[in-house]
Amino acid sequence: MTIINDQPHVLVIPYPAQGHVMPLMRLSNCLVERGFRITFVITEFIHDRLINALPEKGKELVGINLVTISEFTLDERKDQNKSDDAVYSNLPAELEKLIKVNESSDSGKIACVIADETLAWALDVAKRMGIRRASFIPVAAGVKAFVYHIPKLIESGVIDENGTTKIKEETVMWSPNMPSLKTAHFMWNCMAGLVSPEIMFQTVIDANKSSKSAEWVLCNTFEELEPAALALVRNLLPIGPLLSTNQVGNLWPEDSTCLSWLDQQATRSVVYVAFGSIAIFNQRQFDELALGLELLGRPFLWVFRSQSDLFGRPTTTFPDGFQDRVAQIGKIVAWAPQQKVLAHPSIACFVTHCGWNSTVEGVSMGVPFLCWPHFADQLFDGDYITDTWRVGLGLNPDEDGIISKDEIKRKSNQLLQSAEIRENALKLKEMAMKSVGKGGSSSKNLELFLEELKT
Ligand code: UDP
Repeated sequence: MTIINDQPHVLVIPYPAQGHVMPLMRLSNCLVERGFRITFVITEFIHDRLINALPEKGKELVGINLVTISEFTLDERKDQNKSDDAVYSNLPAELEKLIKVNESSDSGKIACVIADETLAWALDVAKRMGIRRASFIPVAAGVKAFVYHIPKLIESGVIDENGTTKIKEETVMWSPNMPSLKTAHFMWNCMAGLVSPEIMFQTVIDANKSSKSAEWVLCNTFEELEPAALALVRNLLPIGPLLSTNQVGNLWPEDSTCLSWLDQQATRSVVYVAFGSIAIFNQRQFDELALGLELLGRPFLWVFRSQSDLFGRPTTTFPDGFQDRVAQIGKIVAWAPQQKVLAHPSIACFVTHCGWNSTVEGVSMGVPFLCWPHFADQLFDGDYITDTWRVGLGLNPDEDGIISKDEIKRKSNQLLQSAEIRENALKLKEMAMKSVGKGGSSSKNLELFLEELKT
């Protein structure tokens, strides 16, 4: 007997990286809470890490079925002679098969495919199979507004058709209420060697195409946070901030001992230091950071992913004797329950790489930021924080490009003494919570999307 389940069924496909998996897992949880069933499609590598990081190993995810697909990453396109189709040739067929298998089981018809905007091939498969499709943007709407206008950059001669900068030292501004960007900070020009500028540029162009052909373009932001960007790109549907309702979505197991450690600290005393899942430091910069925290003389909680770099890059080591010297004031963990940490009353500020998820989480918890962007969209997000929303300060490197221990101490103290920044941060928090509360802008947008899906 075949039992056809009448809960609407949605297939969700993130790009295989922490900053993409996490928000789509949170969105999936939102959908499950509203009566949807989710098939979450990930690579085996991500699957194993997700399962390993679950609080109780092997625990089943409620309402979410994890299925795997072949490994893929952006840098597989290193060979410039290979087109996307050649590199990803097996993936569309694999996805098509997976959808057919799912639809013929008791899972029933798939109401919608929600795919990361970088996965144009996944949205193409959905289109071919007559399934409704939503593209998900893992970055700021402001970044999207910027890249949507790439044709204008080409027209005005700032870049050529391959994204190569033609006018050096140029700064581009689309709206006075959004950060401007120097050519050197265009996303594809600052990928820290992880992906070449050519590949990144092509990815951005493909993502634009896929977002333009999707029925919905969902993004993890809210109207009150990015009004100028959302006015520039009309088809975006802001449904954020997407926040955790459980601990699922981590690629590293959370070390929750830091929460009881935070309980013992004074209100607004702790500097939280975390740089997401990819950013790393060279040894010299790492030493300055460690010594800067020591010099500051305040309690700190530092996420240090020593043994676990996903890219196999060399790890850094603490300066001699550092851990003993700071044992009384510092707590170091390999992975923190970040959202809970940011919401903790003992947190005073967030030293961050300005990844979009970390930015949205910090904004939602009303925490002042000390910005240390590393690459890609983080530079834009950092400018949003310091110049547009005025909820943080930036760190300036010295002539050797190093952010010194003295700069860390100076800026941390300046940030912690600024009543204005704190007030701005609390106002943004209020707006964020309102947007996802009953009748808030993001809640309404999400309900609208779900109503449309059900029809
Ligand atoms: N994160 C976490 N614990 C940590 C560090 C990071 O849970 O110790 C989460 C963080 O809350 C965010 C994600 O990992 O949701 C990182 O995404 P982000 O866009 O900030 O940075 P990326 O890792 O993509 O550079």
